[in-house]
Parts: sequence; structure tokens; C-alpha cells
Amino acid sequence: MAPKRCCIACRNIKNKTEFFRIVSVNNSAQYDMKQKVNARGIYVCKNKDCIENLINKLNRKKVNLKILVDNQSLLNVLEYLKCEVEEKNSGKNEGK
Ligand SMILES: [Zn+2]
Repeated sequence: MAPKRCCIACRNIKNKTEFFRIVSVNNSAQYDMKQKVNARGIYVCKNKDCIENLINKLNRKKVNLKILVDNQSLLNVLEYLKCEVEEKNSGKNEGK
């Protein structure tokens, strides 16, 4: 059985393969695409809502990440992931 993880934004628990994993390497956030990096990580759902939610929380410093990570580098990763999600969905929501 796949390990379960919890989304940092919505707190839903799912298989870890259903999340984006972000790790902190020397306090700098990195997207761990293959979920193999040996570092403490946080998980966020692969949807725009959760990513935006987390960005908002970070901007208001209203989030307990449980890992030490530079805020700005994490925001950069989240912006990147948001684009990833938007690209995947483009075509589906055309005209919207
Ligand atoms: Zn979520």
C-alpha cells in the first residue's frame, strides 16, 4: 500500500503519489518530482486551488510548514507548479 500524506493547504490525506512534493535543501525549496530526495518535505495537492491557497498563506505568513525553508524560494516553486497545473488543464477549460 502506498504511504499516505497530508496536503499542507487543505489537509486532505491521500496517497503520496497524488501530491506534489517539495523539499528543503539547505533551506531552499525544490520541487521533488520523483519523490526521491532524501530531505524533509511538504506535500500539496496537484490542483490550482491548493497551490494558490498555500501561496496566500505564505504571503500572510499564516502557515506552519514544519520544515525550515526560505519563503521566497518556496513561492518560486509554487508559482512553477501552478503553471504546470494550468498547462495540464488548458484545453479542458477553453473559453473560460
Ligand atoms: Zn490540498
